[in-house]
Amino acid sequence: MSRPAWQYLLGIVSGLLVALAIGWIIDRPGLCTSLYLAAIVAWQARNLIRFENWLRLRSILRPPNMRGLWGETVERANRLYQRKRFHKRRALMLLRELRRMTSAMPDGTILLGPTREILWFNPTAAQWLGLRRKLDYGIRIDNLIRQPDFVEYVVNGGKGPGPRVHMPNLGDRWFAFNLVTTSARDLQLLIVRDVTSEARLESMRRDFVANASHELRSPLTVVRGYLDTLAEDSTLDETWREPVREMQRQSERMHNIVSDLLELSRLEAGRGEAETEPIDVAGLLALMRREALSRPDRPAKFDVHLESDALLLGAESELHSIFQNLITNAVKYTPPEGTVSVRYWTDGRGSHVAVSDTGIGIPAAHIPRLTERFYRVDAGRSRKLGGSGLGLAIVKHALQRHGAQLEITSEEGKGSSFTCHFPPARVQLRESPVAGVA
Ligand code: ADP
Repeated sequence: MSRPAWQYLLGIVSGLLVALAIGWIIDRPGLCTSLYLAAIVAWQARNLIRFENWLRLRSILRPPNMRGLWGETVERANRLYQRKRFHKRRALMLLRELRRMTSAMPDGTILLGPTREILWFNPTAAQWLGLRRKLDYGIRIDNLIRQPDFVEYVVNGGKGPGPRVHMPNLGDRWFAFNLVTTSARDLQLLIVRDVTSEARLESMRRDFVANASHELRSPLTVVRGYLDTLAEDSTLDETWREPVREMQRQSERMHNIVSDLLELSRLEAGRGEAETEPIDVAGLLALMRREALSRPDRPAKFDVHLESDALLLGAESELHSIFQNLITNAVKYTPPEGTVSVRYWTDGRGSHVAVSDTGIGIPAAHIPRLTERFYRVDAGRSRKLGGSGLGLAIVKHALQRHGAQLEITSEEGKGSSFTCHFPPARVQLRESPVAGVA
């Protein structure tokens, strides 16, 4: 157990009093106290020199054997030193182990500094991205990989899904990037994955679907033409009338599926963002209202509330397809006595188009999967109504290309609401806004 420092000081003062007492007895108090103090100073100086010598050479010398307060100080300093040595060795061992593991990792790893400069990378990253040891240290990663998607991703500190980057000059490969940041954001780890085979498979699948749909279109047009002629033929045997009508309905469905597949392929093939021509959404929606009202299955009420006349910067065909699909669905899944309403408004967060209905609604469990291809809540009902199951997949893709989001709310038996939120960057306000209800 260590003694408190004042006890050592008390010992020195007691020694001084004893020296003073002896001095008085032999009638030399000055000499005795001076000798005592000189001895104390000499002892302290010796201890200080031994302590300093050990501090300097502590890695090779054993701690000096000292008594009193010095002994305790040396012991404490030695304990601190041993603890520091242990942590240093542990950190070094961990670092070595980490390096060995990241070197053996099948993924590329790049350690970035606060300004995204390269601090370290493993051999896989070096091989894939052509990074040169030492030469590329200190260079900013966005100066080496300049693809806009990638630059935006790293500049934003890895927000959102990591980009896939095509590197035609690095063996025509595709890489997926993932930035791992700590909350302090001073060091960042960039993880690189080779996704070339996945990307090739995906593009093969896309090409296959696009080609198959394209090839199916012409024979289908011929079949539909003949079926139309047959249906109009007054000499056709009565027993054949209903089968021909059914064949017409089915070929119409096939035609819808092929058209939707082709449209989806076209949207997927169109890389990046949609163009930015100014589109008069209010006019487009008013036109669609007229089209919807001419449908035989239209609901009793179809309102269009145009609360904004802002233009949307986008691709007309894609915006048309988005609203057309949502309105067609609302009409399809709403009984004739129901209501469909379309609302267009603009606020600080952008422009919004909501298509709501008082139709059959959608059970909550199905909502997250509605935009998957061929996903239907009730496949039988969708087929009967001429649906392809691709409409909402098209909507989602086209919205994505406009940087927009789809929000779906629905209550089974009560109705649904599909709202498209377009960002402010896609909105162009007119000089004098007009409000109204069509
Ligand atoms: P479909 O061609 O089958 O309508 P969609 O992709 O457009 O395909 O829609 C997917 C599914 O979402 C539909 O089959 C239907 O079950 C459901 N759905 C879409 N819109 C509505 C709506 N307004 N009301 C109820 N269900 C809907």
